[in-house]
Amino acid sequence: MRFYRQLTSITAITFDLDDTLYDNRPVIAKTEKKLLNFIRCYDDRLNKLQFSDFKKYQTLIFNQYPEIYHDVTHWRWLAVKALLCHYGYDLEQSVDGANDIIAHFSYWRSKIVIPELTHKTLSTLAEKVPLAVITNGNADPYACGLGDYFQFVLKAGQDGRAKPFSDMYYLAAQKFNIVLDNILHVGDSLTTDIQGALHSGMQACWINANNSNLLTNDNKILPHVEITGLASLIALI
Ligand SMILES: [Mg+2]
Repeated sequence: MRFYRQLTSITAITFDLDDTLYDNRPVIAKTEKKLLNFIRCYDDRLNKLQFSDFKKYQTLIFNQYPEIYHDVTHWRWLAVKALLCHYGYDLEQSVDGANDIIAHFSYWRSKIVIPELTHKTLSTLAEKVPLAVITNGNADPYACGLGDYFQFVLKAGQDGRAKPFSDMYYLAAQKFNIVLDNILHVGDSLTTDIQGALHSGMQACWINANNSNLLTNDNKILPHVEITGLASLIALI
């Protein structure tokens, strides 16, 4: 554990999800495979589709609606709908198809393997202070067995602009009814989690899972504290 700024009283904690509470890479790899298979079987015309084709539609949608990145689920839905339109679907068919395909994506997206240590840590922390989630992604904590630890879950899109924007940090403080500087945000991303928390007035804990060195010339973002594993939080609270 390393300290870069003076910590003050912590009476609530917000968590990022992906790569903070679990390794997100295996579930994404599996979900992308399942999604591609599902789309290929959905219609004969789509049976040669590559994942890169799908990505092209995501880029197309982003170019048309640059703010869409605040809501990744809707972004993905619009990309699938555009893809289906390209293959000759009318409006109603493309909406139905996008609903089916995104429902399939969401099902696999939430099949996350949660480490036992995450359960133990969250369970211990939840007895001490209220916990919540602030995520830019679309994993469902309730579907992967994490829901009971949290007072609420804030998702970019439905609850405000994506981190590092302050919308969800402010909303979390409001929902907790706790001042921002008594809340600790925990996350793996310096540019979204940590920068957003500091800018919003929260304290920030960075999960350094890859043993990176913060004290390099090109890094200007310093959290209050750095840990290498979630369990270290128990000693802090
Ligand atoms: Mg993350």
